[in-house]
Amino acid sequence: MSMFTAVEMAPRDPILGLNEQYAADSNPQKVNLGVGVYYDDNGKLPLLKCVQAAEEDMMKAPSARGYLPIDGIVAYDNAVKGLVFGADSEPVKSGRIATIQAIGGTGGLKVGADFLKKLSPSAKVLISDPSWENHRALFTNAGFTVETYAYYDAAKRGINFDGMLTALQTAAAGTIVVLHACCHNPTGYDITPAQWDQVIAAVKARNLTAFLDMAYQGFGNGIAEDGAVIGKFVDAGLTFFVSTSFSKSFSLYGERVGALSVLCKDKEEAARVLSQLKIAIRTNYSNPPIHGGAVVAAVLNDPARRAVWEEELAEMRVRIKAMRQKLVDGLKAAGVKQDMSFITSQIGMFSYSGLTKAQMVRLRDEFGVYGTDTGRMCVAALNSKNIDYVCQSIAKVL
Ligand code: PMP
Repeated sequence: MSMFTAVEMAPRDPILGLNEQYAADSNPQKVNLGVGVYYDDNGKLPLLKCVQAAEEDMMKAPSARGYLPIDGIVAYDNAVKGLVFGADSEPVKSGRIATIQAIGGTGGLKVGADFLKKLSPSAKVLISDPSWENHRALFTNAGFTVETYAYYDAAKRGINFDGMLTALQTAAAGTIVVLHACCHNPTGYDITPAQWDQVIAAVKARNLTAFLDMAYQGFGNGIAEDGAVIGKFVDAGLTFFVSTSFSKSFSLYGERVGALSVLCKDKEEAARVLSQLKIAIRTNYSNPPIHGGAVVAAVLNDPARRAVWEEELAEMRVRIKAMRQKLVDGLKAAGVKQDMSFITSQIGMFSYSGLTKAQMVRLRDEFGVYGTDTGRMCVAALNSKNIDYVCQSIAKVL
């Protein structure tokens, strides 16, 4: 008898399970579209030039590794505020944003969730249907009841915006609404600026708490374009939460670089909120690691290096868009009769392909093309070498 006898085996993470299956597949033409990672046209994870240059400078002036402050590197937190809200924006100038360096975007969400649980213990959390799977797990583990608002409409191949709006308009005051700021994961469908205005009006009218998850700033239409939604929330006079991830935009997945920003009423309120965020951090992991934050700060705060980053990010964004077009054209050329042009109206890393579970299983088993059972494919893993094979394989299962 062991104290762990009653411990049940937790279900496998579906994406990791897919990766294992992919690794074990002996098909030489296999393609992994199950991941949430950007690969370059050679199928390689990029090491950005701006990152390499910043690291070379650090190597020239090696430094000892003391503890960081609980909220992280000051220059990093300031760079995040500028990126998310605009360097010359009123919230930045008035000092009413509480920002902390977090362990990835996930860490930002978790620190925010822990803080919110103390602040509004009985609030419900609404996430999109479907959403990034960890949203549900993370907020549930923080002690919240998590429900969904309508989002994807499979029949329409788009967004059930009326359903989404109705859910927000009928939510109880204080409900926490997790919104994908851009590049919705997993569907690839974003709402329009005019629809954002309606969402914001509902958030305001119902007194909801908006929690914007911005894991892909710069992957959609551009850094400022993707961040414009934040300005809309500011202009509406709302206070809200934003989590940031640099995993994709800096290709720094394993360094775990992210942030949480909470927009408050004024500077004094931001100081109080920051003090509470620090308690959430202190009691979880004490303070963040140095390297990733130092690299991102060194790039964002140096105009020349930042320009290189913006170019490299644009290159990733443009390549993904080109792959979407190639996918649409390639499917047509491979004989697919149905209109697949919806793929180019999606944005960011992912495409909800509209394929059924049975079709996805066939893709995997017969052709070694791996996507999730929901039909999600990572377009950022397509390249000029695998695109034809992927198109032909999809054509055969459709
Ligand atoms: N939110 C969404 C919507 C994501 O897709 C991801 C990453 N897949 C994250 C948050 C977490 O990002 P990170 O890896 O930086 O923790």
